[in-house]
Amino acid sequence: MNAAAQKQPAKSAVLPTYNRSPVAFTHGEGVYLYSTEGRRYLDFGSGIAVTALGHCHPHLVKALTDQAAKLWHCSNIYTIPDQERLAKRLTDLTFADAVFFANSGAEAVECGIKMIRHYHHSTGNPGKYRILCVNNAFHGRTLTTIFAGGQAKHTEGFGPPVDGFDHVAFGNLNEMRAAVTAQTAGILVEPIQGEGGYSATPPGYLQGLRAICDEFGLLLMFDEVQTGNGRTGKLYAYDVYGVAPDIMATAKGLGGGFPVGACLASAKAATGMIAGTHGSTFGGNPLAMAVGNAVLDVLTQPGFLDKVSATGKQLHAKLRELQKRHPRVFVEVRGLGLMAGLRCAEGVLSGDMVAKLREAGLLSIGAGENVVRLAPPLIIDDSHIAEAIAILDKVAAAWPLPAEKARAAG
Ligand SMILES: *Cc1c(COP(=O)(O)O)cnc(C)c1O
Repeated sequence: MNAAAQKQPAKSAVLPTYNRSPVAFTHGEGVYLYSTEGRRYLDFGSGIAVTALGHCHPHLVKALTDQAAKLWHCSNIYTIPDQERLAKRLTDLTFADAVFFANSGAEAVECGIKMIRHYHHSTGNPGKYRILCVNNAFHGRTLTTIFAGGQAKHTEGFGPPVDGFDHVAFGNLNEMRAAVTAQTAGILVEPIQGEGGYSATPPGYLQGLRAICDEFGLLLMFDEVQTGNGRTGKLYAYDVYGVAPDIMATAKGLGGGFPVGACLASAKAATGMIAGTHGSTFGGNPLAMAVGNAVLDVLTQPGFLDKVSATGKQLHAKLRELQKRHPRVFVEVRGLGLMAGLRCAEGVLSGDMVAKLREAGLLSIGAGENVVRLAPPLIIDDSHIAEAIAILDKVAAAWPLPAEKARAAG
């Protein structure tokens, strides 16, 4: 027998690194997804906070298809006009003076990590290379970014560790300050922890980090891969808190579903990043840039982000009422804007909740700390919130009490 015939019949030829639900979708429209079985789902996951403008937004479809008929790929050894345009727009709208385009969140974070190290190298302090991160963080799945995240469930088996990251408690300024050494180069945090369970930083925390960075000559980097691009009601979450970083990584919503990542930086932080220091074959390609510009067209329409902010407040208010109606199922509402987390009670597993909600027609996402994440497209209105709350109410009301569970099992 040859080697192929000896193999066990495999269910899937895809490397089984994901916990997948069997549901598959054929198409999407706005806030809804349609499965191969013809079922309609209310999409309050947006992938994982990616399809910021819903599915098949006409402006995005047009931008992508128009570009697809003109030019797909053009190396970064040439000038890419739409890349210049998107970078200019992003710098006009933010703290930043320069942008590097990548294809994913992890790559955008990686660019920022390199930039922090290179800044100190090029300003005569090559011994400063360590980055302070926080516990329960998530910065991506490359070898470097798993060690920046520092979570054992992501790093286990992938040692030896990529050196250069130190971790302290999330939200604790005293610990952060005490952890600064002569080798510290910067601080990297998510303004609101995404995979960690939508825990927002405590009031004054980001200001405190800014002060520590200024005092010790460190660069402050925010990972806004998930919080960025309108999700919190501002273009970037740092604006909600009124604290500008030196470097910011973003991705997810920026392409509305097309892969694109970006690392934004102040002129100071970007000091050493001259020709030859960094690069990407696909980063900033014409297709991604056409869509990125189209997403930004919508996000910057007058009143768009104010509406996101108002819709976010409405969603949080409705979720707080829901939590009060079902305290044995949900114990806390977290997050900001259209990133809302429902922490489940002990004994209610967020993964089970996500599955039950899906069976009832609502898509959500599990996260750390037993949280169910709701990250709907930014285009939702009150009717979609009402539809989601009705499903949550139904599923929560039918959730078996521990005693009933025991009876059913025994
Ligand atoms: C999703 C995410 C990443 C990684 O993005 P990829 O596109 O999967 O590489 C990094 N940081 C945060 C905060 C994220 O939410």
